[in-house]
Amino acid sequence: MSRQPGQPDPSDLLDVAALLSDEERAVQATVRRLLAEHAEPHVGEWFERAEFPRALVPRFAELGLLGMHLDGYGCAGTNAVSYGLACLELEAVDSALRSFVSVQGSLAMYALWRFGSTRQKEEWLPAMAAGTAIGCFGLTEPDHGSDPAAMATTARRTDAGWVLDGTKMWITNGGIADVAIVWARTDEGVRGFCVPRDTPGFTTRDMHHKLSLRASVTSELILSGCELPEDAILPGATGLRAPLACLNEARFGIVWGALGAARSCLATAIDYARERTQFGRPVAAFQLTQEKLVEMALELNKGMLLALHLGRRKDSGQLRPDQVSFGKLNNVRAALQIARTARTILGANGISLEYPVLRHANNLESVLTYEGTSEIHTLVLGEAITGLSAFR
Ligand SMILES: Cc1cc2nc3c(=O)[nH]c(=O)nc-3n(C[C@H](O)[C@H](O)[C@H](O)COP(=O)(O)OP(=O)(O)OC[C@H]3O[C@@H](n4cnc5c(N)ncnc54)[C@H](O)[C@@H]3O)c2cc1C
Repeated sequence: MSRQPGQPDPSDLLDVAALLSDEERAVQATVRRLLAEHAEPHVGEWFERAEFPRALVPRFAELGLLGMHLDGYGCAGTNAVSYGLACLELEAVDSALRSFVSVQGSLAMYALWRFGSTRQKEEWLPAMAAGTAIGCFGLTEPDHGSDPAAMATTARRTDAGWVLDGTKMWITNGGIADVAIVWARTDEGVRGFCVPRDTPGFTTRDMHHKLSLRASVTSELILSGCELPEDAILPGATGLRAPLACLNEARFGIVWGALGAARSCLATAIDYARERTQFGRPVAAFQLTQEKLVEMALELNKGMLLALHLGRRKDSGQLRPDQVSFGKLNNVRAALQIARTARTILGANGISLEYPVLRHANNLESVLTYEGTSEIHTLVLGEAITGLSAFR
């Protein structure tokens, strides 16, 4: 975006960047540079062709983006704020890129890192950090989304180990995953299982005709008499708290990521409005347009303060799940509104893939729904402030 000397950065009117450490700024700049060269120029085509840019995975690994905030096993072990900034830069290009990194690091790797056995960690985490193994996280089912406690997938104990039966749906990275973390109902409650792709009885089927997150692989996982050895179970994951803990990790990345999409939309709208002339003036000179741009900037900048506050709390070990819900609900909703408003400023051009705004808006529709819908996060916060659960 072009700016005149002395003009503030519309995406950082409050100088939030000044609150970052040199290392955090360096991480953000490095990710941004990589994406500007290798992703930004092609992202429209990937979206149009519904193609996940797999060639980026080794580059992500090289930068340490896979399992970035985890320690050991070849992971970068950065702080939460650096991870958030990386998510922001990824999603400024496309939510599909951030989704890949979130699912790999915060869902699949985190589940193994936090709840897995030493053998499972040693087998999978270094390869996943290096990008040579891809993971997915199967919780949602065709008939059970917001209420995973009602899941129908079962894991039955046998003499040799376990047999899993059921179907998972809407699973990011499913079709390209070397290992799936699958959640299933057992006699002792919900448990997690590490399912390598070549396990007999395990297949995946990619989902097509998506109008959102088109550059992301979304799949069904089919478990039909899927036989696993005894040690495929994640020993530390007992009950639904375990997958919910993983989702909490991934939601933290969304708090930041959504602002990346919003930043891209605001920058595009400002550039466009300054260049586009109607009634003899740039459309940016009309008060109605300025009001839209200011509303967008207010929400984006407030969202950054919120993200950084939550990041600092996470880094000091104080972040509560309801605070993550606060961040996800607020920042995704704000980003979606910013993307839709940007679309109006671009007029007819707003619907074209030549510009990123409707692509971002469509992607954000998924982001609003996955990792807990906006309604579910509203109920989390409703319970936090009233002490009363309104889930059922
Ligand atoms: C592109 C994409 C990628 C995804 N990736 C993954 C993945 O990798 N792994 C995975 O496990 N899942 C994934 N999901 C699934 C996602 O997490 C679910 O879609 C989400 O949890 C909502 O479930 P649902 O779609 O079944 O909606 P439902 O739960 O059927 O909800 C339908 C509507 O009812 C509302 N609702 C439900 N319960 C209540 C209530 N108690 N009070 C008020 N309103 C309520 C919801 O908010 C929503 O508006 C993905 C989804 C998408 C779109």
